[in-house]
Amino acid sequence: MAPKVNRCWMCGRTTEEVRSSVGRPPEEVQLDNRLERMEEIHAKFSRASGEWGSLVSDQFRSLDFEFVVGNPGQFKAMRFLGEVDDAKKSIVMPLQVAIGNVRNGIEASIGGVKIGPLDESRKRVLLKETEEFERRNGRRLDGSGTNGGTPRGFDGLSIGQGLAFLKEVGALYFDIQEKLLEAEKEDEMRRGPVFAISNARVGELLEVPVCTVCQNLVTSAISA
Ligand SMILES: [Zn+2]
Repeated sequence: MAPKVNRCWMCGRTTEEVRSSVGRPPEEVQLDNRLERMEEIHAKFSRASGEWGSLVSDQFRSLDFEFVVGNPGQFKAMRFLGEVDDAKKSIVMPLQVAIGNVRNGIEASIGGVKIGPLDESRKRVLLKETEEFERRNGRRLDGSGTNGGTPRGFDGLSIGQGLAFLKEVGALYFDIQEKLLEAEKEDEMRRGPVFAISNARVGELLEVPVCTVCQNLVTSAISA
């Protein structure tokens, strides 16, 4: 006997057919677009940051990172310093602010994803990733380091070390963002319409298998 395919008694469609005709909810499509855009920026950053280290000439390698990046006019040979400064402003600083805010119980935002003070699961994602990163690197990322304690940000790093650190901070930034967007997408999919076929009583009829769309139609027709 062929396996019984559950079809809607009214429109004759299977759950899959109903789902594909109704289409994905716009929120889900929008989240996919954001993930895609983020992955493009991530790939661009990975390519660029992978090259920076090899572009530093040996005589500059031990100079202070902040000093070199803050004085691009003095180090014209390192043409990529503008890109490094951009990455500091668009990746490192927003991440530091977000970490500081979450740690202080203030609303934070990273890559357009909001993390409210009561958003326990999102806060956990950011804090867990950050704490592992800080332990591994032996330095804090937010601005609340103690005197004489763990170094913060790029404190005391040479340009060579700073570029390697920046690459890692970028990886953390995109990793956190991706996890948050994926979690948001899962929430959205849970909230979104579920297209199921279940038994329902249609008018005077006995219970028949009816899809969610037809059930809604019938319900609104009856109550109208
Ligand atoms: Zn139907």
